[in-house]
Amino acid sequence: MKLNKWDKRFLGLAKHVSEWSKDPSTQVGAVVASDKRVVSVGFNGLPQGVDDSIERLENREVKYSLIIHAEENALLFSGRNLDGCTIYVYPLPPCSRCAGKIIQSGITKVVASVTDDTERWKESFALAKSMFLEAGVEVIEVPKNSITETKDDNTIANTEDYDKC
Ligand SMILES: [Zn+2]
Repeated sequence: MKLNKWDKRFLGLAKHVSEWSKDPSTQVGAVVASDKRVVSVGFNGLPQGVDDSIERLENREVKYSLIIHAEENALLFSGRNLDGCTIYVYPLPPCSRCAGKIIQSGITKVVASVTDDTERWKESFALAKSMFLEAGVEVIEVPKNSITETKDDNTIANTEDYDKC
């Protein structure tokens, strides 16, 4: 299955939203969409009102205990039923923690960019993927380097190459 024009747009938007994250090491953006409409967006960060000082963000252990993932924020801020929606995630696919929440939210399709540069999260991503498959959530992986947010057309050149799971 090819990505359509709107899939490309929403993935590009997820890329843009990822830039709003203050995390110095990993910036992730997520967009929940239904048909051609944006339902919600999110990026990884500490909860509102919780001091997101650079000291906290640079201490990996502290950061992991406090941070809300982009997908979680997108789900939390949607304020509506997400049955049948699609979530777009850039530049990493959902972790197993987020996968469970995505499944429970009613989302039925995940479009995520992937890279080879994810050694630390490899197991979690693999687990997430099997969770999606078991739960009947469609997963489409898109090579990260094929995603741009600037041009609307021809931004993703080789749509046939996408790995549909
Ligand atoms: Zn996650």
